[in-house]
Amino acid sequence: MLQIQLDRNSVNVNSLPNQCPVCKSKISAIQTSVHSKTRSNCIEIAYCCPNEECLSLFIARYETLKPTPTSINGFCTLIECVPNSLGKPDIVEEVAELSPLFCEIFTESYQAEALGMEQICGIGYRKALEFLIKDFCIYEHPAEETKIKEKALAKCINEYIDDSRIKQCSYRAAWLGNDEAHYVRKWTDKDINDLKILIKLSVLWIQSHLLTASYSSSMSRT
Ligand SMILES: [Zn+2]
Repeated sequence: MLQIQLDRNSVNVNSLPNQCPVCKSKISAIQTSVHSKTRSNCIEIAYCCPNEECLSLFIARYETLKPTPTSINGFCTLIECVPNSLGKPDIVEEVAELSPLFCEIFTESYQAEALGMEQICGIGYRKALEFLIKDFCIYEHPAEETKIKEKALAKCINEYIDDSRIKQCSYRAAWLGNDEAHYVRKWTDKDINDLKILIKLSVLWIQSHLLTASYSSSMSRT
């Protein structure tokens, strides 16, 4: 058990905030003098993140589970720290450059999922996959850009992707992505986590393909 000093009172708490909710760094939060007893069983304390690239103020909410008239001196549990930023997924540089819209749509889907919007984030991931694959196909076959944009995703994978690793993973991601859009699931033993793994694999194989092509052309034998 730990004790926090608030003016003339002290509060017993189960833990101090150890992660900044804004930058997500592990921190020893700096307590400010600002605090408020917002309800009989709830205390809010303002902290500052010591990470020099962040320095954000945030609020730690503590509650006593059974409110009593003396709850400010009771044992308080850390409930949450706010504002809780949604964060961004890590997307490798080569793919971020290849398809900025994939990054944008994938990030929005990731944040929708973080907010608990489980019914719509899957269709977002499916849309992100389409931009990733079509932008990759256009990069590899620039003369076919108009056709690629108009074709169904599965046809693009079939006709324009030669790399078998990208092909296998993106096909399967597309199948699971369709399950996120339709009333009846075909792949009942798979879920959105499998879809995310297959998109991640597609991204990694595309990165590997692009880097290999880049080094092959910049270091060709004379
Ligand atoms: Zn921070």
